[in-house]
Amino acid sequence: MLRFKSLGSGSAGNATLIEATHGEHTSRVMIDCGLSMTELRSQLIPMGLDLEDIHALFVTHEHSDHVGQAKQFGLKTGRPIFASQGTQLAIQVHGWGLREEQIQSASDSEVIQIGALSLCPFTVPHDAREPLQLSLSDGQTKLGLVTDLGHVSSHVVNALQNCHALILECNHDEHMLRLSKYPSFLKARISGPLGHLSNKDSAKLLKAVLSENLKTVVAAHLSEKNNTPELATSALLEVIDAKGPQLIVAHPDTGTDWILVH
Ligand SMILES: [Zn+2]
Ligand SMILES: [Zn+2]
Repeated sequence: MLRFKSLGSGSAGNATLIEATHGEHTSRVMIDCGLSMTELRSQLIPMGLDLEDIHALFVTHEHSDHVGQAKQFGLKTGRPIFASQGTQLAIQVHGWGLREEQIQSASDSEVIQIGALSLCPFTVPHDAREPLQLSLSDGQTKLGLVTDLGHVSSHVVNALQNCHALILECNHDEHMLRLSKYPSFLKARISGPLGHLSNKDSAKLLKAVLSENLKTVVAAHLSEKNNTPELATSALLEVIDAKGPQLIVAHPDTGTDWILVH
């Protein structure tokens, strides 16, 4: 059984928990660690979990909303941290005081096995040193996770085929971004080919990976200033029909409930 829960999603901090259970054995991985240990524990403890119940951390890239608290997590739990070589260099992970064996490399298309969970990272176009996003599987079903990308590359489309659930960046509404008070360099960065997906681009990506298998789509990493859950949802609904996947919007601070991948 594969399930996931966003613990927070957006520029204030990202973290997603993925859990695979085979018989008696459960494997848990956290993707990104932009939430403080206090925030994490306040979400984990009501579920009967603590930080040590997360068996590994995967960091997608060096932006602080993804990596901001990863050092504290590594020092506190002793669990392995996976990141690309480029991300490792950007965050200078070897100076964090972790045990060397905690620092694990990830690269495009190289599968990482953590208990019952297989992680398959893939490269995305984003303004970081070597950003990766990933799909995860328990051998039965597949979850795609893709946030922080500036445009829809064919590599991303290929990596996300046949997902049963998808966490999909819907960063901004183009019109709201254009009218926002952001300085023009920031608007250009966000809407550029190495920035973030607009709702329209997210719908384009969703259309390219739609299949009968896809049951759930979580709109994630919404800008609190340049988007609304309603605008993100209506853009995605343009490309799916009544028989299509259910849509859920991740809350910036509380994420989502547990969602079963089926
Ligand atoms: Zn981000
Ligand atoms: Zn980023």
